[in-house]
Amino acid sequence: MVVERIEPYLSSEKLQARIAEVGKELSAVLSPTEPTIFICVLKGSFMFYADLLKHITVPTNAAFLAVSSYDGGTHSTGAVRLTHDLTLDIANQDVVLVEDIVDTGLTMSYLLEVLRARKPRSLRVCSLLHKPARERIKVPIDHCGFVIDDVFVVGYGLDYEQRYRDLPFIGVMHFDGPSAT
Ligand code: 5GP
Repeated sequence: MVVERIEPYLSSEKLQARIAEVGKELSAVLSPTEPTIFICVLKGSFMFYADLLKHITVPTNAAFLAVSSYDGGTHSTGAVRLTHDLTLDIANQDVVLVEDIVDTGLTMSYLLEVLRARKPRSLRVCSLLHKPARERIKVPIDHCGFVIDDVFVVGYGLDYEQRYRDLPFIGVMHFDGPSAT
């Protein structure tokens, strides 16, 4: 039998302290008068997004989109598709894209291409986590919470088979047992 075990990696306190700093960093570079559109990339970034926005001291406009990466069986190309689009126009607007994690970079690179085509005035990337060991495409991360090791993490919005998103901390997922590979 395989037993799932989650090893603590980033505590709630550590996450909250760094998110407050990132919020401060962003507030210092965004317009103090014109609302900036903050895009939450569902589902993984919902907790980070909610906590981050509490630390933004300039005007914001909340927006949501959802993506899914799929593996077409023999193609493990990490092809990405938009499953829920924005309901507002970002042309000529300042935009911050809020992601949970940049791993291979494929999702972020796809999103940047889609959003840049809509001609925002500015487009910044803010990611809670960056896993550089698995990078396949270099993407600009303007604001990063933590650079992490090459481990599979769950919690604080991130899932394993749709579970563990509700954890207030980030942990490394382990699979213990004789048939674990
Ligand atoms: P990409 O490889 O395109 O940079 O990342 C695609 C998506 O894979 C991320 O948005 C995230 O949802 C998921 N992902 C990548 N690394 C991890 C990880 O360590 N844990 C979890 N739960 N999801 C991950």
